[in-house]
Amino acid sequence: MIFSPEPQVNAALLRDSTLKIGWCLTDDLKRKSYLHHDIDRGLPYAISIAFPLNDEIIDSIEHKPNLLYQQHYRSINQRLEAEALELARSIQSSGFRALPAPVTVSVDPFHGHLSHRMAAMLSGQGWIGKSALLITPGFGARVRLVTVLTNLPLSPPPQSMVFKCGDCRDCIEACPVNAITEDARNFKRELCYRYLESLINQDVVEEWICGLCVKVCKGENKK
Ligand code: SF4
Ligand code: SF4
Repeated sequence: MIFSPEPQVNAALLRDSTLKIGWCLTDDLKRKSYLHHDIDRGLPYAISIAFPLNDEIIDSIEHKPNLLYQQHYRSINQRLEAEALELARSIQSSGFRALPAPVTVSVDPFHGHLSHRMAAMLSGQGWIGKSALLITPGFGARVRLVTVLTNLPLSPPPQSMVFKCGDCRDCIEACPVNAITEDARNFKRELCYRYLESLINQDVVEEWICGLCVKVCKGENKK
């Protein structure tokens, strides 16, 4: 568990020790990533919340996403929306501003309102792996993320983690459409997007999920 001196953030942590929380500067997030104008309200901090996925459910994915994973994805998203809303409410009740960013809403085919994974990376929660996902030391890619923007005065953000994929190629080998390369900056988003679209068109699942690169990346403690 990460402890912070900020009472609202501590309260969220104490409610559930499985939550991982960090924060970064919104300006750094803007520099590194996309921030939709609707959500760019001049709030200087981005608080990142990570919630681990269930190992048994993720391990049940064989070749294609299944309905168990789809329901878990939906449940975790709802949980994250609720956590973000509760944290925002708590911050607002202390007289500060807070805006919970939507977990899954897309503002175009490739972007949400902001990049939750970039906010988490800048908040010291993990690194951006070859799969372009956030990779955490304890849970690998098996986390879902949400972000709350706020003007709550927070202490300086933690240092970002260094890239730790090393010579691992597990996600590269697992991807059915070769979307993953050695360098996340060359991630072939269009190939991944088309594959997820094909799964929906084939009625495999109703969400934009695959799960294979999430499944194979278990974090440095589980390799
Ligand atoms: S599976 Fe290996 S290479 Fe891929 S993101 Fe995880 S640690 Fe990095
Ligand atoms: S979600 Fe599936 S298709 Fe997309 S990069 Fe990961 S393994 Fe490849």
